Amino acid sequence: MADLLITRGKIGTMDGQRRFIEDGAIAVEGNRIVAIGPTSEVTAAHQAARTIDASGKVVLPGFICTHGHMAATLSHNMPVDFSKFTKFTDMMEMWWWPQVEDQTLADDIYWATKFAAARMLKSGTTTIGDMLEAPSALPGALDHQARACDEAGIRAVLAFEATERTSKRLGQLAMEENRRFVLERNRPEARVTGRFACHTAYTAPPEMLRAARHYADETHAGLFIHVAEFPPFLTVERWGKPDPQVLEEAGFLGPDVLTIHCIHLTDADIDLWAQHDVKVAHTPMSNMLGGIGVAKIPQMLAKGITVGLGHDCFFTLEILEVMRAAYLLHKVAPTPNPANMIFFQALEMATINGAKALNLEREIGSLEVGKKADILITEDKCPTPVNAGTWMWYAVHDLSSADIQTVIVDGRVVVDDRQLTTMDEEEARRKSQEQAWALWKRAGVV
Ligand SMILES: [Zn+2]
Repeated sequence: MADLLITRGKIGTMDGQRRFIEDGAIAVEGNRIVAIGPTSEVTAAHQAARTIDASGKVVLPGFICTHGHMAATLSHNMPVDFSKFTKFTDMMEMWWWPQVEDQTLADDIYWATKFAAARMLKSGTTTIGDMLEAPSALPGALDHQARACDEAGIRAVLAFEATERTSKRLGQLAMEENRRFVLERNRPEARVTGRFACHTAYTAPPEMLRAARHYADETHAGLFIHVAEFPPFLTVERWGKPDPQVLEEAGFLGPDVLTIHCIHLTDADIDLWAQHDVKVAHTPMSNMLGGIGVAKIPQMLAKGITVGLGHDCFFTLEILEVMRAAYLLHKVAPTPNPANMIFFQALEMATINGAKALNLEREIGSLEVGKKADILITEDKCPTPVNAGTWMWYAVHDLSSADIQTVIVDGRVVVDDRQLTTMDEEEARRKSQEQAWALWKRAGVV
C-alpha cells in the first residue's frame, strides 16, 4: 500500500524522454516514487492512505536552487549607501564582510534559514545548495541551519564557507565544521546533508584547497567554491595566476565540484571545466544586482557543461524568477541571439541539471520510479492548452509562484493548499525581522 497518490494530473516528468502524461498519476511510498503513469493503471495497482485529486492541475518535479546563502536574507534591504561602492571588492570589504558575515550569530542563522526555507518551499524550490558565511557562529554554525531545514521540511546540501580572510584559525575551524557535519549527516536517506566549501581561490590558500579535495574524496561529499565573480586580479596578485589555474594545480577540479558564478572565465577555462566535468551554479540576478557581468552560459552549455541555477539569497528567493531572468538575459547577452537560450534549457537548469550540478541526479530533478518524491502541483492558469507539446513552454513562460498549490518533499506534503504544514510561517517572518534589526544595529548601520 502506498502512502500518497496523486491522480488525474497533467504530469511533466523531466525524465530522459521529457515525457508528459495527459491524465497521470504518481504513487509514493515512504519518500520515493513507486509508480508513475496513466491514472487508470496506477490506481488499479496502488491504493494509498491519502489521494490528491490533481484534475485541472499540472504536476512537475520540485525546483532546485544550487546556490544560496540563506542566513544572508537578513541583509535584504539593509540601508547601506551603495553609492560609495564603485567596484565589487568595495562592496565586500566595506559592507558584506564586516557588516553582514562577521555579525551573523546562531539565532540569525536559524531564523533567516527558517524564513528562507518557507519562502522557497511555497514558491516551488524543494532543494537548496547553501554556503553559510558566519565565522562568529563557529563551531556549530551548520547545526543551527540544519535544524531550521529539518523543521521546515526542505531538502538541503549545506556547507560552511572556509576562508582565511580574517585568520588561519577561522579557516581551520570552518574546515572542521564541514568535516564534522558531513560525517554526522551524510547518510543514504538523509534529506539534509553536507559538503565542503571554500570561499574563493583568493581567500582560500592552495593548502586549504588541497585539504578540501582530500576530505571530499574521503567522504564523497563534493565541493562548492565561488569562481570568477569578478576579474581575477586578487588571485593573480596573491598566487601569480588566475583562479582556474590555481584550482587545477591544487587538484581541486572534478565532477563533484560546483563552481558558483563563473562570470570571468576565458574560452580556455571553459574548455578546462568541460574536461574535468566541473559543474556551474549560474546566478544571473545577483550578478546583475552587483553589476559584475554576464556568464557565458550558452557557450558552456554548447560545451556540455552542466549548469544549475541559484538565487544567491541576495534578492528574490523564488527560483522561477531566476529561471526567467536567465532565459531572457542570454537572448541578449553575451551576444544577442534569441536562440542562445531555449525554453527547455531554462527548465532543465531549474530541475534535472540542478540535480546533476549537486550530483543528486539519481535521487531528484525528475519524476521517475525510484527517485525521491519531490513534487509540485500547480494550478493551470495558462491561457492556452498545457499538453505534450506545450508543457515546458508553460513552465518557463506562464507558471507563477502564486500558482503553486501543493509541494511534496521526500514524500511529505509540506505545502498543502498554499499553507505550510511544517512550521509557522508568520512566526519565522516576525523573528527574521527582529534578528535583522538587531544585526543591523550591531553592524552600526541603524
Ligand atoms: Zn555565493
